[in-house]
Amino acid sequence: ATTDVWTPERILESDRRYVIRSWSQQGKPAQAVVTDASGSWFTTGDGRRILDFQSQLVNMNLGHQHPKLVEAIQQAVAEMAYIGPGFAARARSELGEMIAEIAPGDLDFSFFTTGGAEANENAIRLAQHITGRQKVMARYRSYHGATLGALAATGDPRHNNGGANVPGIVRFHDPYTYRTPSGLPPEQDPACLGAPHLEEILQYEDPSSVAAIIIESITGTNGLLVPPDGYLQSLRDVADKYGIMLIADEVMAGFGRTGEWFAIDHWNVVPDIITSAKGLNSGYIPLGAMIVGDRSREWLESNKFWGGQTYAGHPLACASGVASLRIMQEEGVLENVRERGAQLDRALRAMQERYPIIGDVRGKGLFYGIELVRDRATKEPLVPFNPAGTAAKPMQQIVADGWAKGIYLSANNNVLRLTPPLVITEEELDLAIAMLDEIIGAADSRLQR
Ligand code: PLP
Repeated sequence: ATTDVWTPERILESDRRYVIRSWSQQGKPAQAVVTDASGSWFTTGDGRRILDFQSQLVNMNLGHQHPKLVEAIQQAVAEMAYIGPGFAARARSELGEMIAEIAPGDLDFSFFTTGGAEANENAIRLAQHITGRQKVMARYRSYHGATLGALAATGDPRHNNGGANVPGIVRFHDPYTYRTPSGLPPEQDPACLGAPHLEEILQYEDPSSVAAIIIESITGTNGLLVPPDGYLQSLRDVADKYGIMLIADEVMAGFGRTGEWFAIDHWNVVPDIITSAKGLNSGYIPLGAMIVGDRSREWLESNKFWGGQTYAGHPLACASGVASLRIMQEEGVLENVRERGAQLDRALRAMQERYPIIGDVRGKGLFYGIELVRDRATKEPLVPFNPAGTAAKPMQQIVADGWAKGIYLSANNNVLRLTPPLVITEEELDLAIAMLDEIIGAADSRLQR
């Protein structure tokens, strides 16, 4: 380095030259330099203000630079930056207690990690220890993290591309009500019903060899799939029948995103384990959690837990978790999610009336997806599943149009994901809806019908 002046251009160039960015081919510059962020907005190096309608990686639930959260972290670092996970420390104890109060059923015992993948790794291994079994059932349209085990459990094409192969992962179909695997209506589709499909696969695999079923309560990245009523209970019943542990991955959907503390609360089902990260502390400091119930507690109190990281339960991360949950309670964040979620839902359904490109609108709270199609009747997707090369262009164009207008969006396959900060205001959401209307309207016009 020759100079201490960090212009946006120099930041971009050093990033390209010295930093490996995730999920990217290297050697190209990043999309932008971000120099500033506040609330639902961030500012790029060229001075543009962008409405963060993704909440970054669906983790900045309280928005950027929430003053109370920043202050709590400053206070925590001044008090004690770090103490090993073998000691008791106030922030860890307090966060464990707060989670126990809001988590469903008997889930009241937490192991803290530095993110979602690590929480899933620990959950899978714990289930294997407790059951003495190896196999794990996981779904095709799923994302569970980018470490070896979590990526192997992931069903989306990243697990193939990433070369994550761990023996004993068995796949099953998703409750994809808009495109059922059988082609039957969801009420008759074995995968949407849950048990009929799962039972069939379990009989082939031998249910007594299966340790865990891992599912996203509401699937995030892979299409915002909301299970039909009865589905999660059906999985719970199958798990109980064979002594299998049910792991609900709520890394994206948990901690208020859907308008309840946990997405699974919409159906009052209690899993054996919830894995979490992201919204748990709005991601200001890396934090995840594996939250377990009585079956795990009994085992953990009579056996040794074979797991741990240097930064497991990092005091700063836990302190930010405590502050984040307190802010959510004090500022009525769940109420805001329900109200803004209803506002978003109304607007998207009105858009669907006007633009045939919108095949399906689905979600809960501020966790929404719109599925784009070339033809409503045939449901031909706007881009194919796992698009290669230029096939992804029509979706990329929509995201690029958003960026040009000043709204940060993301898409996977043919689904546009809408996940703003949970503190977004009514006016900000109106602004976003107006921009979305123009972007989707333009995409609709581009289709030659
Ligand atoms: N599980 C789900 C459902 C996720 O959406 C993610 C991240 O997007 C993960 C797990 C992995 O979490 P992390 O990136 O913190 O390891």
